[in-house]
Amino acid sequence: MRRSRKVKILATLGPASSDEVMIRKLFDAGADVFRINMSHTDHDSMRTLVGRIRKVEEEAGRPIGILADLQGPKLRVGKFANGKEELTVGQTFTLDDNAELGTSSRVHLPHPEILKSVQEGHRLLIDDGKLELRAVKSDGKSIVCTVVAGNKISDKKGVSLPDTDLPVGALTEKDRKDLDAVLETGVDWVALSFIQRPEDLAEARKIAQGRALLMSKIEKPQAVARLAEIIELSDALMVARGDLGVEMPIESVPGIQKQITRAARRAGKPVVVATQMLESMITAPVPTRAEVSDVATAVFEGADAIMLSAESAAGQYPVESVATMDRIAQQVEKDPTYPGIINAQRSQPEATGADAISLAAREIAETLKLSAIVTYTASGTTGLRAARERPQVPIIALSPILATARRLSLLWGTHCVVSPDAVNLDDMVERACNVAFNEGFATGGDRVIITAGVPLRTPGSTNMLRIAYVGPEGKGSR
Ligand code: PGA
Ligand code: MN
Repeated sequence: MRRSRKVKILATLGPASSDEVMIRKLFDAGADVFRINMSHTDHDSMRTLVGRIRKVEEEAGRPIGILADLQGPKLRVGKFANGKEELTVGQTFTLDDNAELGTSSRVHLPHPEILKSVQEGHRLLIDDGKLELRAVKSDGKSIVCTVVAGNKISDKKGVSLPDTDLPVGALTEKDRKDLDAVLETGVDWVALSFIQRPEDLAEARKIAQGRALLMSKIEKPQAVARLAEIIELSDALMVARGDLGVEMPIESVPGIQKQITRAARRAGKPVVVATQMLESMITAPVPTRAEVSDVATAVFEGADAIMLSAESAAGQYPVESVATMDRIAQQVEKDPTYPGIINAQRSQPEATGADAISLAAREIAETLKLSAIVTYTASGTTGLRAARERPQVPIIALSPILATARRLSLLWGTHCVVSPDAVNLDDMVERACNVAFNEGFATGGDRVIITAGVPLRTPGSTNMLRIAYVGPEGKGSR
């Protein structure tokens, strides 16, 4: 089974999509990677979901990636005596260290370190910015604010602090427990929320010990300011437009999305565009024109993956949402303008064997109109560099390691197959042609190009290019 598009689809699982039948339907409709949101999933449910995805994977016979998304330091106010309060613009409202229930003039902020960091003039955005406060006085124990806009506040609403450098790392106590649990269960990717600085990746990296790769969610202005360094230390990026649109002026999000996708492509790190892509499909079977255009923009930018959140997790039309993304992506990629737009952002190769060979493979494959680029990749590095070239022909990544195949399922244009190491050169050609034939990428008489590092499994050894004819039964020949 092969997909008819290069961009991948990431679907979040939730109440609308947690049984095995539904997960299978989402996969069949086009979901390549599933996201488990640890803000809303306890450990037992997480383990159940992972088990179900692995069963679907086995039945489908295709590697499927799993992304566990950690909540991160999401700040919340405490509770109110009446559950909620109505405020008026211009009034004074205080957040403090007093654990008593809130009133119309104050509420508990159960984060002592934050009370110390907010300074006069800083904005406090409550409930995704629906209520805006501005600090007028802060003494380390309380922040006295003026209500600037909005009027509603209620129990446990989120607090965003776009102007404040938060003295917190990216992992909370809950995140550490969640991270241990997801690593033990065996997920492929872990997403880190609200990271601010490159150092924020260090702890998760140390705990993960290579068991999962790390995706940095860019959703704070502090992270945008240090994007290059964060990309350098991350395995993948997410343009987390939900919180980004709260923490930064909403009109700056499209430009930032372009900056992040370009920088990630240049670095050869997978990049996901997320949030509200088909928002209206939470309750309607068809999207708006604007949403279709938004999905198309991400595809034209050459993002590795586009993501569904509530549309697939909690909406009324999860399968339709995936199918709609799939159709939009296929149509964009068939558009005559698509190759030119993708090529315009192609990066120069770095001075490595993997990059030189990936560039050569793309040029040869496009010149000779070959059916596929078949890449032998044990760790996944050569697969990442092959995808960075954004070739017009499909990439087939062959890896003897299941974890590598699952991780690379997030990658643009890459069809992953688990295949044992080849024993010699003839075997390598044979296997590559067989897979291209069996997976529907080539028929008898077609040619493919094969890249590998010989001896196999030697990291950094990519050194071989071979053009091979696919024989009538899929066997390779010269
Ligand atoms: P979230 O992250 O859905 O976990 O908030 C994505 C975003 O903020 O866009
Ligand atoms: Mn977020």
